[in-house]
Amino acid sequence: MSTIDEIKQRLDVVDVVDSYLRLEKAGRNFKALCPFHQEKTPSFFVFPERQSWRCFGCGSGGDLVSFVMKKEGVDFSEALKMLAERAGVSLARRKETAKDKAADRLYQINEAAAQYYHDVLLKEPIAEPARDYVKGRGLDQKTVADFQLGFSPGEGLKEHLTKLGYAEKELLALGLLGEREGRTYDYFRHRLMFPIRDIRGKVVGFGARALDDSLPKYLNSPLTEVFDKSGVLYGIDRAKGAIRERKLAVIVEGYTDVITAHQHGAANVVASMGTALTEKQIKILRGLTRSLAFALDPDVAGDAATMRGIEVARRSLDRQNVELPGLLGARSKLRAEIKIMPLPRGKDPDAVIREDPQEWQRLVDEALPLMDHLITVVASKVDLTRPEGKSLASEQLLPLIAELGDETQREFYLGKLAGLLGVRDKVLLDKAARLHRSPREEVDKVESRHLAASSSRDPLEEYCLALMLQHPELREKAEKLLPEHFERSENREVFTTWRDASNADELSQMIIIDLQGHLEALCGRALPPAGEMEREKALADCIRRLEERRLRLQEEFITSEDVPKVSAGDLDSESVAAIQQRIVEVDTRMVETMKERAETSFSYREDQ
Ligand SMILES: [Zn+2]
Repeated sequence: MSTIDEIKQRLDVVDVVDSYLRLEKAGRNFKALCPFHQEKTPSFFVFPERQSWRCFGCGSGGDLVSFVMKKEGVDFSEALKMLAERAGVSLARRKETAKDKAADRLYQINEAAAQYYHDVLLKEPIAEPARDYVKGRGLDQKTVADFQLGFSPGEGLKEHLTKLGYAEKELLALGLLGEREGRTYDYFRHRLMFPIRDIRGKVVGFGARALDDSLPKYLNSPLTEVFDKSGVLYGIDRAKGAIRERKLAVIVEGYTDVITAHQHGAANVVASMGTALTEKQIKILRGLTRSLAFALDPDVAGDAATMRGIEVARRSLDRQNVELPGLLGARSKLRAEIKIMPLPRGKDPDAVIREDPQEWQRLVDEALPLMDHLITVVASKVDLTRPEGKSLASEQLLPLIAELGDETQREFYLGKLAGLLGVRDKVLLDKAARLHRSPREEVDKVESRHLAASSSRDPLEEYCLALMLQHPELREKAEKLLPEHFERSENREVFTTWRDASNADELSQMIIIDLQGHLEALCGRALPPAGEMEREKALADCIRRLEERRLRLQEEFITSEDVPKVSAGDLDSESVAAIQQRIVEVDTRMVETMKERAETSFSYREDQ
């Protein structure tokens, strides 16, 4: 039995959720105020028979693993660990893969290197200039220890680590040693060392700052088995709690910016290791918050490349948002919020915070929404008194505004742009309407009534995944498929990783260890022979069925929860109207899926 099956067998979703919230009995099920959105009456339900949970207010839902992921803000494997501990299932008992063990050893080596550099910084005469530098930056002893700052003396690391029993080959693989003409040497020399940790606190690599005129000023570990610059956020291990608490992550660029911020109590600050956030970094952050504030140098803040990078981040978060749709009205609450904090000219965050931590807080509070910032930037670059300038500004801004998913926001910024250009709103509205693409069909998902309570498998989800994994050409056809279509968190995790990976190789590297077996089973699963057309139809059919699952439960919920409230007559007219609209919407979509069903002749076989 796999670890996850074992955990699910031993733990009851009701107990797990109950340890976080106060659950009330509601018929066969339980309810509570949703921990994931603000509400006055409970729309968060736990279903013991299906061993699942769902909030009808904000649309989130899943099994016990996804509950812990969301509540604790941790990733799948971390949630699994927490639950394994609770269930008394020893994760160590599972067969460690060779890859697993190798990675653990690499972390150990990095940890030992970090400790070595740290000791040198604290004790050795050679580190005097580094100690002076640290003092000059105003970093206190506790901070130096918290971030385990260090100094690389230029030689001694190799000797130290080989004495501990690590092989030169391993140190080379981690980029701790370099090699020239067959001889190895300490890679980092005379630099202030910043161990870079992942969200779990494991040392994945190092950042190193030159203390003299050596170039480059900053040097990072090279790409290794455990280090990929594009997939880490400096400080995330120490910032994750504060980010969740304050519902905001502040993104800066430098290591010392992060460290100084933390020392002064701004603990929700992380560094992006480059200007633009990557998809991988966003994936880490979106487990914690959807609100990001970028602290930017005013010169960089207007930079086209910077803006593009940030725009990518916004879209990526927004896309996630579409995947977490609730019923009506909840979407705008979940919407990604990207703000820009222009810093005083010539000052980096480090300087601002050191001078006046309150000034920093003010900048955070007054950060401009991305769109306002973009409008300001464009307006400052073109001559708005001339027709060419006006059309240039309109060309650059209109598509961005048209893309905003929220209608109120779209109208607001169109009005703002119209005012700026001195044209009538109507002209821009028409243009924008042509540009606006309706958001991807809103699809979320539902509890499956087909599922036997005790079943640890979901045949429909697994068949769907097996099809896509074994036939990469189907990827395009899976556009409508969303993480929330997968009830089982293991299937959901395979799906989201698959979506982020560009090919099978990458997928098998990205998938967490605990799911490697599951992934292999899906890839190796025997599927009935079928031609290309049939496969496409089969997938379309799966997606439709997953969608039907969702709709059926929504309908059930409306009938059992909302309709009685309406008949009792104790709701205000606004709530009644919202419920009526909900009913119309669900009905319409039901009809649509039925039509789709009539159009697809191929049928998924339940006995798969
Ligand atoms: Zn909710």
